[in-house]
Amino acid sequence: MLRVNAINKGIVLDHIQAGNGIRIFERLRLKGADYPVALLMNVESTKMGRKDIIKISDTLDLDLTMLGLLDPRISVNYIEESRVTSKVHPGLPERVDGLIACKNPRCITTDERHGPSSFTLLDKETKVYKCSYCGERVRM
Ligand SMILES: [Zn+2]
Repeated sequence: MLRVNAINKGIVLDHIQAGNGIRIFERLRLKGADYPVALLMNVESTKMGRKDIIKISDTLDLDLTMLGLLDPRISVNYIEESRVTSKVHPGLPERVDGLIACKNPRCITTDERHGPSSFTLLDKETKVYKCSYCGERVRM
């Protein structure tokens, strides 16, 4: 069993679907971090078989909507003095503002003078979202 030191203060992203960790690691721009970070892949999990874990020795201001969108099963554990002080399960967001670009070239949100895009969850099972402006559907 591979061991990584427990972190004193920071954030542990747990229950990441195996194989998804690298995507989240990149999306959070952890490659350029100047504090200790760890990406653990294919860790054995009684609940999930295999999972990925990301440990961050820093208190980042994480975008929970984005994390829930990238991985609906992810759990976010905030650590202080080596103990979990709070745990959040973002889940699949009902509404996503400014994170998804609409693929419809005629959509008003493709005009950069327009404000951020806005999508609402249409189908939880298939992760399909609908553009609030033109109705274009996108599968995450
Ligand atoms: Zn649109």
